[in-house]
Amino acid sequence: MRILLATRNPGKLVELRRITEAAGLAGVEIVGLADVPDFPEAPETGATFAENALAKARDAAVATGLPAIADDSGITVDALNGMPGIFSARWSGTHGDDEANLRLLLAQTSDVPDDRRGAAFVCAAALVTPEGADGVSPAEAAAEGTGPGRTVVHGTWRGTLLRAPAGTNGFGYDPIFEPEGETRSSAELSSEEKDAASHRGRALRALVPHLQALAGA
Ligand code: IMP
Repeated sequence: MRILLATRNPGKLVELRRITEAAGLAGVEIVGLADVPDFPEAPETGATFAENALAKARDAAVATGLPAIADDSGITVDALNGMPGIFSARWSGTHGDDEANLRLLLAQTSDVPDDRRGAAFVCAAALVTPEGADGVSPAEAAAEGTGPGRTVVHGTWRGTLLRAPAGTNGFGYDPIFEPEGETRSSAELSSEEKDAASHRGRALRALVPHLQALAGA
């Protein structure tokens, strides 16, 4: 059975394939957006990570007729009441400007003392089948949350916000995030170390039983 991971990021495809293989999931081929005909991708306008992930997965399932997985992720900073949150990718005003986003977050938190620098990376991953998406608008799908053919799981990776960037691996806010139990930033971890602990790794692993049920159905 083919399952679409609604992403153009080859790194995310490799990660999900590695996780499903490690789980011994048989009879499932994970494909990406580059492997299916183009379809219009709606902007992310949901109020939560789960809403964005559900809407993306639903659109992909409707457009392709395949069961689809989508994720939405970001960093939540305790001292900023959970922001940047769903605005992580465009916190500085320009979508995907990782350097500007990171600089702005550091500036905003420069006066926050060490004992209040808690933060977490959060990821919501949704799995929607064509039947689960059928006849349901994106808003309804998001408002109703999970339902027959629609599943959302979360992964959280807690840590501390550093005061200066360290490390060159990863992307986004990795250089200023020190995971709990670590003395290195997440940009100083290898990709294997990061996948084993990260929010996305946790969320994708939590999807595996649902994929197993789908493949066995
Ligand atoms: P998404 O691609 O819409 O899920 O947006 C994710 C945004 O959150 C990215 O642009 C990063 O700014 C941030 N983010 C999510 N996961 C990570 C991570 O693992 N490391 C660093 N930044 C991340």
